[in-house]
Amino acid sequence: MSKPAPTLAAAGQAPLTTLSGVGPAVAEKLAARGLVTLQDLWLHLPRQYEDRTRITPIRNLQAGVAAQVEGVVEAVERGFRYRPMLRVAMGDDSRGTLVLRFFHFRSQQVNQFRVGARVRAYGTPRPGQHGLEIVHPSYRVVDDAEAGVVGEALDPVYPAVEGVGPATLRRLIAQSLQGLPGEDELELLPREWLQAQGLPSLRAAVATMHAPPRDADVPALLAGLHPAQRRLALEELLAHHLSLRRQRIAMQAHAAIVLRDDRLARRLTSALPFALTGAQQRVFDEVRADLAQPSPMLRLVQGDVGSGKTVVAALAALLAVGEGRQAALMAPTELLAEQHLANLRGWLEPLGVRVGWLAGKISGKARAAALVDVASGAMQVVVGTHALMQEGVAFHGLALAIVDEQHRFGVHQRLALRDKGAAEGIVPHQLVMTATPIPRTLAMAAYADLDVSAIDELPPGRTPVQTVVLSAERRPELVERIRAACAEGRQAYWVCTIIDESDEVVAQAAQTTHEQLSASLPGLRVGFVHGRMKPNEKQATMRAFKQGDVDLLVATTVIEVGVDVPNASLMIIENAERLGLAQLHQLRGRVGRGSAASSCVLLYQPPLSQAARQRLETMRSTSDGFVIAEKDLELRGPGELLGTRQTGIADFRIADLARDADLLPEVHRIGEALLDDLPQVADKLVDRWIGGAARYAAA
Ligand code: ADP
Ligand code: MG
Repeated sequence: MSKPAPTLAAAGQAPLTTLSGVGPAVAEKLAARGLVTLQDLWLHLPRQYEDRTRITPIRNLQAGVAAQVEGVVEAVERGFRYRPMLRVAMGDDSRGTLVLRFFHFRSQQVNQFRVGARVRAYGTPRPGQHGLEIVHPSYRVVDDAEAGVVGEALDPVYPAVEGVGPATLRRLIAQSLQGLPGEDELELLPREWLQAQGLPSLRAAVATMHAPPRDADVPALLAGLHPAQRRLALEELLAHHLSLRRQRIAMQAHAAIVLRDDRLARRLTSALPFALTGAQQRVFDEVRADLAQPSPMLRLVQGDVGSGKTVVAALAALLAVGEGRQAALMAPTELLAEQHLANLRGWLEPLGVRVGWLAGKISGKARAAALVDVASGAMQVVVGTHALMQEGVAFHGLALAIVDEQHRFGVHQRLALRDKGAAEGIVPHQLVMTATPIPRTLAMAAYADLDVSAIDELPPGRTPVQTVVLSAERRPELVERIRAACAEGRQAYWVCTIIDESDEVVAQAAQTTHEQLSASLPGLRVGFVHGRMKPNEKQATMRAFKQGDVDLLVATTVIEVGVDVPNASLMIIENAERLGLAQLHQLRGRVGRGSAASSCVLLYQPPLSQAARQRLETMRSTSDGFVIAEKDLELRGPGELLGTRQTGIADFRIADLARDADLLPEVHRIGEALLDDLPQVADKLVDRWIGGAARYAAA
């Protein structure tokens, strides 16, 4: 761990225990969230603001628009239908009625809601059974003296810290801000440059974010486009860029094993039942050139679903084996690991290469035996899940670490596999594969530490998936369609989606669909998987589907990634309007993997929002993952709650890659300049924004 730089406001480095009200217990909770110093609290920025400067008459509430209301409790109903529930009906002078609905509550809360009590509530209403309702509003009971009295400024809403209540957190942050140093002391970016960009100083930006002044541009703040937010987002993106670049530089200073012998790889190429596509060949050539270097490869292979990434991974693994070394391939789920194992065994064992596997479910003697084979190098290619990174797993001079569907892993897990393989100053080459295409600018930000290759061509002979968009009324017709597909020996997926609800509710809806479909398709074997099942039950059903023992698979979105069942030719996605483009694309990629013409039916529940209509239209008109990714970026305005999570990019405190994408070229430019000219400033920026995490990664 590097010492705090003395110039960087010593005050900012003071531990949080210097605040009143922070003892060791609270400090520990905060530290678990990465909040260790005062500066960490300054930069624990609000994600949202609640506008409690007004009270909205209940009658004027609009679905989907957050608002504050005040009224009197008219009725209270406590029920247990599927689970405990509390409903509180409140009314106000506008003669509107609103229901507050709770699924988790204490009896103390129930007692608070006496009929006649005056309640102030804040939240986003949506249509319920009896008019608008707010689920889990923030609320308090107010006395008559407080009636109608509102706050003067926007209230910041901070990302939650487990074990520290929102009120406490707010108080601690306010307290920490009293120690905010002067403008010059805090600033790391060149002043002239900031002025040229029209951005405020860091101090001004931080102060504005935590306590927006009365005259602040509220719509801009709520949209995340206020100059204060832009300034902070830019600095955060810059810090991430620098951290990734630094990691790359540090990594490439290590030695790696030169892998040059491609005789085995060539034997596989000629033994395959298909010819590599031009794109596969080009990407493999890029990988091969990297592997021939004495410094570690750091390469990301992006390839659309079904583009054939696995065989490229297999060829790379053979370069390691060809040199007498070991390769490991890590997948995010057991099912995917199993699928890779089957593929790699099929391809590599005829060449005399030993492929084995390690997964969580392997235990006891089998595990001990596998560990021995991994450690001795007898197992030349090791396939597995996270289990590969567990304690007790020792590789035998691991030369190549491959991580599949990397967006399912955190960066740390990827690095952990590398660390596992590192020995005596030599680190493994790293190959990362992802089916989540992201636009170039984003790739630049997210993968600044990696070289990027794209398999931008699908194997020949695939008939593009025919996509149709249908209103949910036409659901009954689909039963016929499934029957017809299965009568031809094909298989089908039926995906149930409900977002905004708990897993439990989705599972229930999917359960109902499963029962209905089983009843209307008596001759078919209908399987069912959902996220609440035990992993082994889920895997068993998926395996049965893969083996053709199940004709129709009803599923929640758990089947999203990677599963390869070429015989499946029909996919139906219910409530498709609720999914983001990236997810729809992933799901649709489960069909069209064989030679049969496949189709995808996107069922929607009218009425469609403008954005949902465009998403469905995009899905209907193209199957190109990169086109879809660009469209996704364009459509995801603030307010479209798709999140950056699905692109697999780090969680930022303030930056939002979709919203702030236009900052990236400048981030890149100034980042490179800082690395060249002012490396100490670069270090301080990384330390300020990423701190412990970066130190961990660079270790
Ligand atoms: P993904 O890139 O989505 O991981 P896979 O590696 O699972 O794709 O490949 C999808 C399917 O295409 C597999 O059944 C694989 O054997 C097959 N495949 C891969 N490359 C080719 C090719 N060049 N020609 C024909 N089929 C191929
Ligand atoms: Mg794959």
